[in-house]
Amino acid sequence: MATNDAPLMLSVSGARGIVGKTMTPEVAAAYGGAFGSFLKATTGKARPRVVVGLDGRISGPPLAAAAIGGLTATGCDVIDIGVAMTPTVGVMIGHHKADGGLTVTASHNPIQWNGIKCLDGDGLAPPPAIAKEIVDRFKERRIDWCEPTATGKVERDGTAARVHVDRVLANVDVAAIRAKRFAVVLDSVNGSGCVGGRMLLEELGCRVEHIYGEPTGIFGHTPEPLVENLVDLANATRKAAGAACGFAQDPDADRLAIVDETGRFIGEECTLVLAALRMLQRTGGGALAANLSTSRMVDDVASRFAGSRVIRTAVGEANVVAGLRPANGILGGEGNGGVIFPPVCWVRDSLSAMALVLELLAHEGTPLSQLVAALPRYAMVKRKMELAAVGGMAAVAPALAKVKAAFANERLSDVDGVRVDFADGWVHLRASNTEPIVRVIAEAATEARADELCDACRRAAGV
Ligand code: MG
Repeated sequence: MATNDAPLMLSVSGARGIVGKTMTPEVAAAYGGAFGSFLKATTGKARPRVVVGLDGRISGPPLAAAAIGGLTATGCDVIDIGVAMTPTVGVMIGHHKADGGLTVTASHNPIQWNGIKCLDGDGLAPPPAIAKEIVDRFKERRIDWCEPTATGKVERDGTAARVHVDRVLANVDVAAIRAKRFAVVLDSVNGSGCVGGRMLLEELGCRVEHIYGEPTGIFGHTPEPLVENLVDLANATRKAAGAACGFAQDPDADRLAIVDETGRFIGEECTLVLAALRMLQRTGGGALAANLSTSRMVDDVASRFAGSRVIRTAVGEANVVAGLRPANGILGGEGNGGVIFPPVCWVRDSLSAMALVLELLAHEGTPLSQLVAALPRYAMVKRKMELAAVGGMAAVAPALAKVKAAFANERLSDVDGVRVDFADGWVHLRASNTEPIVRVIAEAATEARADELCDACRRAAGV
């Protein structure tokens, strides 16, 4: 199936579709109406307050306007924060004591995509059961439109980036970072991170070279922060005089990828590990949470701090938070560069990640390349297959069952898809929540062995 024929994807992560085909203002209005109705039913309030933002992609404004229409037409009052990072929406829900948040974003997906993601009154991605309730309301169009006189009001707030940056600054060692006067290259992909990303780094005393730093919503490169898309960042960092590192945000700025001072991409798996290392140093140890597809580097780093543990969860921010929060965890995240820093918000946050990595650099006083060289390293292989090519969603459950049967003697987890742990590596097979693809991820000491694990898993699954 070609991307342009992709269906509207409805999942724990919200709605994603192709602009003008499956993602239209009509869909956004109904989704806003469904979410507003859900909030009225669950909070018991006639006029819930909802923070609304958009990730800056060029297709966003009509969809955000439609979603705001759907919310106000069900009686919700809206605080419109305009172009904002997804974590900023999380921060502003708390700031305004709102009942929920909605952001128009397709995260790292290419420009033809857009989507809608909802957050609850604690600024959390709703857990699967609640997310399903919102999606079901949307699918069944169970929308509780309000009386004409009860239409909600829209208030604008242009301070969101400032509030978010201040929250990060209040929770990192600003003096130590400022004293270093780091030179940093930032690639914001012309997305929602442009304003807040630059503001944070300048407040931290960094000399900032900003590439793709205009919030035009027209991405400067393929937006997913992977090595092949960050060539310009790598070159700019290598050439910049005395740069400590380069940072890349995805369009909604919840993920962060890093290149070292030589311009070498350190791998998106390292973002969480470096931030976790700093938090473990700070606290002496504690609980971390990471999803099942995240590198075991984080387990190795945690094992250096007595009493630390890593809680493994299903993929998706809501699942990581569901593991992190009750454990009073110090940090959580996902191997894709998503770091959740509880004092700031319960959403993966590129600003928190940047600040913690700079704090680590400031305290260690060694170049990033050396810090990374000292981490245990594994080879990770990430493959994806079109869902249609493996026989569609209906083929996934039987494929998972075949993998479980084939590896019945190994350590298995079926919390999310199936993960098989071997003595010298692991492999994880699952259907994506947000795209019509199936992912197979394996990690081992060598790339050859990780490839072998991927192949063995695919063979067992028959895909
Ligand atoms: Mg994202």
